[in-house]
Amino acid sequence: MKIIVIPVTPFEQNCSLVICEETKTAAVVDPGGDIKHILNVIKKHDVNVDKIILTHGHLDHVGGTQALVRALNNVPIIGPEKEDKFWLDQLEAQSQSFGFPMTISFLPNEWLEENDIVEVGNIKLKVIHIPGHTPGHVALLDEQSHQIIVGDILFNGGIGRFDFPRGNQQQLITGIKEKLLTLPPETVVFPGHGPTTTIGKEKASNPFLGGQSMWDL
Ligand SMILES: [Zn+2]
Repeated sequence: MKIIVIPVTPFEQNCSLVICEETKTAAVVDPGGDIKHILNVIKKHDVNVDKIILTHGHLDHVGGTQALVRALNNVPIIGPEKEDKFWLDQLEAQSQSFGFPMTISFLPNEWLEENDIVEVGNIKLKVIHIPGHTPGHVALLDEQSHQIIVGDILFNGGIGRFDFPRGNQQQLITGIKEKLLTLPPETVVFPGHGPTTTIGKEKASNPFLGGQSMWDL
């Protein structure tokens, strides 16, 4: 699996183009905006995008979804987990509060659940549900190539915000420790913002995931 990271929107959200090199089939994960730029990258890599996958319902991750669906001949929208419906339901309000172009609410063609498999060509992405940043946030793991797309769950040296409506610090930290830090240390992590990292590096040095959290001090 090859992942091309495409930073989009004023929030520098990492949209990802996931490519199966054997079949030249691809998926776009989290098209937050800047659709022309995303389409140019798709064209440059000469791949056939057959789906859009969403990690969670925040505007900077989903804002370009409907325009991209139209540009790609109505490809299906897959994910996030259904608990994020309340975020997708208020995309208009999110657009206003973040000063984004007006984005109309939409629903995916398919919600995702823990342990679902999303196929991209010959790649099988395993769905890992980790609430806390948003209640329906999912990560997408390729066990074969040891790569994982984590959206706003985990960052290089940080973790996602948990102060939004229905955010939950304990769920987020427990989910990261139980479902991500248990992956092989060489697993490459693609966060929704900022540089890539590895599970091993975050396990060793992420200040939010140590035995003693900063809030215990
Ligand atoms: Zn987010």
